[in-house]
Amino acid sequence: MRHPRWVIRPPPLKNHPSFPSGPILGLTSPAGVKRYVAAAFPSACGKTNLAMMRPSLPGWKVECVGDDIAWMKFDSQGRLRAINPENGFFGVAPGTSMKTNPNAMLTVQSNTIFTNVGETSDGGVYWEGIDETLPPGVSVTSWLGKTWKPGDKEPCAHPNSRFCAPAAQCPSMDKDWESPEGVPIDAIIFGGRRPEGVPLVYESFNWRHGVFVGAAMRSESTAAAEHKGKVIMHDPFAMRPFFGYNFGHYLSHWLSMERRPGLQLPRVFHVNWFRKDPAGGRFLWPGFGENARVLDWIFRRCAGGEESERIARPSAVGYLPREGALDLGGLSEPVDTQALFHLPKAFWEKEAREIRAYLTEQVNVDLPAEIEEEMKGLEERVRGME
Ligand code: GDP
Ligand code: MN
Repeated sequence: MRHPRWVIRPPPLKNHPSFPSGPILGLTSPAGVKRYVAAAFPSACGKTNLAMMRPSLPGWKVECVGDDIAWMKFDSQGRLRAINPENGFFGVAPGTSMKTNPNAMLTVQSNTIFTNVGETSDGGVYWEGIDETLPPGVSVTSWLGKTWKPGDKEPCAHPNSRFCAPAAQCPSMDKDWESPEGVPIDAIIFGGRRPEGVPLVYESFNWRHGVFVGAAMRSESTAAAEHKGKVIMHDPFAMRPFFGYNFGHYLSHWLSMERRPGLQLPRVFHVNWFRKDPAGGRFLWPGFGENARVLDWIFRRCAGGEESERIARPSAVGYLPREGALDLGGLSEPVDTQALFHLPKAFWEKEAREIRAYLTEQVNVDLPAEIEEEMKGLEERVRGME
């Protein structure tokens, strides 16, 4: 059913920069200040986990408005507002456990449909990374209907097996999750699965650069996409499968927000939880609840003022957290921040070439001049890298 006051994927040049693929969450700081952010990550890049996060930083609260779709528009005061048009969650099962996503586990205890997961002989469900030992005497049937034992080579659940559960059952739903006005958005967070070269977090220099960052999004492909192997695919705004009209016009629409008087444009960030140690292949960042440390930095950037200036430094790709600005206190394992934020020149030369080729091939004459300018800006900054 369509809510009469909200429109998804409107024709271009109305005032709705709506996008699916976006969790919406409320962040409350230890000081009791609350801000909402909307994110856009491609499939299997951590939307549901982010939306339901239990922050590891003491005193912080994360509340969920939605995990998958944000419809956004500016209100009459010029504030960007977002609603979640969905009533439930359709989440990836493998990897979901009381450790990684307790709120999801608590949400799926009843009224839930599971697809392509393993089934236990006592009527339960099972999947890779559920982190539960099987009680004695309980056996498992895999998603393919075969007898399955822990340690088998074949997985018991399909990598893209899912749970489908009512949102109201999630213990961390925000009190305004069904508010027809939507919640006010202070930051848009783009992101993807990038094993190499892309730092944990950066902020765009300004709105126009932020639109370019959205246009240049790429991510390692997953089980949900049509490609089988691991390839880095372009997925601008995490909208590649959903664009309802010409992508060049879509970009112009986003860019036009800057020219409309009285709008408070949100800040634009890019995150990557998935950078790997080139030597060992391990994730460099613990992720999940620890991502609260990145949200904390984003939150402090949104506050503006002197403190927000102090915690950021410009780089070729955007603003990075200044040395020591990410709160890493109390991490159970040390994190190699050098490796997490390193910008290898050869990588970014190749990245810029790929982005230019994509924009040329896919958008061509419809590419807005501002995006071409941003492309040149990135190429120039990359040339100046050490
Ligand atoms: P969605 O499809 O974008 O909603 O992604 P999910 O939240 O369902 O997560 C997809 C996969 O990424 C799951 O296997 C998660 O366990 C994993 N994942 C999510 N967040 C993180 C993170 O911060 N770090 C790591 N390493 N994996 C994550
Ligand atoms: Mn999801």
